[in-house]
Amino acid sequence: MRIGYGFDIHKFDDFGSLVLGGVKIPTFNKLLAHSDGDVLLHAIIDALLGAANMNDIGTLFPNNNKSKNINSRIMLINTWKVITNKKKYIINNLDTTIIAQKPKLSNYLYKMRTNISIDLNCSINNINLKATTTNGVPFINNINAIACIAVVLLL
Ligand code: ZN
Repeated sequence: MRIGYGFDIHKFDDFGSLVLGGVKIPTFNKLLAHSDGDVLLHAIIDALLGAANMNDIGTLFPNNNKSKNINSRIMLINTWKVITNKKKYIINNLDTTIIAQKPKLSNYLYKMRTNISIDLNCSINNINLKATTTNGVPFINNINAIACIAVVLLL
């Protein structure tokens, strides 16, 4: 068994569409990033790489023209491919918390879990997503940003 955790945070940009867990969320702007800004998938990628003792997302996907506006689901799929090529890991379980004052995410969580379970080739029952606000506490100034924490256990 190997455990890994990841954290990521991005501010909202002034244009584009918000994408979380590979799901487009209407009426909210994209998160400012070199990629599509999918903060949830970035935290999951770092958790996976941490568990596999393989550095971090910036090492695997440097900010260059090749990764400009890249779909983070492609990054997640490639990360899992690199990890499982090295060793035959499977996902025991993945747990995440999305910290966002807005938007309300409950209606999108099931679709996000579905996307992640497809990309990691595991049952949706092994993927848990939680969304929380900070109850107005300006802890990460998350009126203007979304943060995410992910923990994974690999077998
Ligand atoms: Zn990121």
